[in-house]
Amino acid sequence: MARILVVGGSLGGLMAANLLLRAGHDVTVLERSPRSLQGRGAGIVTHEGLRQTLRAAGAVVDETLGVPVAERVVLGPEGQALCRWAHPQILTSWGRLYTLLNEALPAERHRLGAAVDSVTALKDSVQVQLAGGEVLQADLLIAADGIRSTVRQQWLPEVKPLYAGYVAWRGVCDEAVLSRHTRETLFPHFGFGLPAGEQMIGYPVAGDHGAQGNSTAVGQRRWNFVWYRPAPTPAELQALLTDADGVHHAEGIPPQLVSRRHIAAMRQAAREKLAPQFAEIVEKTAQPFLQPIYDLVSPQLAHGRIALMGDAAFVARPHVGMGVAKAGDDAAALAACIALHGATPEALQRYEAERHASAAAVVQRARLLGAPLALPPGSAPPYRDPRGPMQQTAIDPALFETYPPEALAA
Ligand SMILES: Cc1cc2nc3c(=O)[nH]c(=O)nc-3n(C[C@H](O)[C@H](O)[C@H](O)COP(=O)(O)OP(=O)(O)OC[C@H]3O[C@@H](n4cnc5c(N)ncnc54)[C@H](O)[C@@H]3O)c2cc1C
Repeated sequence: MARILVVGGSLGGLMAANLLLRAGHDVTVLERSPRSLQGRGAGIVTHEGLRQTLRAAGAVVDETLGVPVAERVVLGPEGQALCRWAHPQILTSWGRLYTLLNEALPAERHRLGAAVDSVTALKDSVQVQLAGGEVLQADLLIAADGIRSTVRQQWLPEVKPLYAGYVAWRGVCDEAVLSRHTRETLFPHFGFGLPAGEQMIGYPVAGDHGAQGNSTAVGQRRWNFVWYRPAPTPAELQALLTDADGVHHAEGIPPQLVSRRHIAAMRQAAREKLAPQFAEIVEKTAQPFLQPIYDLVSPQLAHGRIALMGDAAFVARPHVGMGVAKAGDDAAALAACIALHGATPEALQRYEAERHASAAAVVQRARLLGAPLALPPGSAPPYRDPRGPMQQTAIDPALFETYPPEALAA
């Protein structure tokens, strides 16, 4: 039995911790947030691989996982269906997965308010210093501390997220407040809107009613949207990340601080550019929020007894719908390599060899899918065949070769 510390108690860290705990190791998750992360996040696309990892991690995966969707539809500006594609999927919410993984991990294994300050590689162990000064020792350290990973910045300071030139406006809207027309023509589907140089996508997810804030009952669900909009210059991005008091939140603006002026402008643009169904959803979403889109590729995943996983290692733009699935694949590979080689640097080297190329390929696919949204300022967006985004976005990885980003391009 090895002593393993996992930095970061979001979905990636919780999957890794649960898998390693079930393999018999002494695992502790160190999460800097002093409070549970429940109540945050929006929609997540599930794939078969992710569902398998969730089960192996001890999560109960049954029909309450999410909302099944049978079909995709692209809506034109008048609200008419431009094309459709039968593609069954289960769509869930970040909060639902957090609850399932949290329930699987004994509370004493999950330390909230434990912010890691620094990590020191010793000969046969790793030493971790927390913000309050406490020092911990482990055989292995797994960094699942996200895109701004403290651990990665200490070890690979030159690796930084690269801004893609556009942002995603996101939000979830209650089903109950929507008009009958929108509930019938858009709500049950994975929907797309493709105004020039932009992309709106969305799908139904569980609502926050019922047991554990998760109801998939008709009338209690929500619609999760992600609207990609260009903000190619540093000045435009800075303006969007600046709150009403003039404070610039360079590393991400908290949802409640997004400027009302920007929200009003975004809603106006929705009325002008999107199908009325999308405009209604955007209008009736209580708290839209904003997320700049980044790419991140770490050249290394293993450094002695320290491993990077999830968003600390690679960030793929959300077009592939793989953020959580990729973290799950990392967690599963780590657990398998540690089972084979013990809690040793060799296990982490093997993990890097298994995961680096495939995770980098996911980042590259996402970059290609996002390329039509990342145009230089002032350039005219090319025509897009609507079937391209519809058949390439957030599909099961098993279909990647069938629907390459180059296919169905303009
Ligand atoms: C609150 C939240 C909501 C999200 N909602 C969505 C969503 O709706 N849709 C979606 O596609 N993706 C969402 N994501 C991103 C998604 O969780 C990740 O893409 C995926 O889980 C893989 O990332 P990760 O778990 O490796 O890292 P992340 O999810 O980024 O989590 C990193 C964790 O590490 C913690 N941390 C950071 N630094 C330290 C430190 N020094 N010491 C201790 N802890 C630290 C952070 O507080 C965070 O909990 C969300 C992430 C978070 C944190």
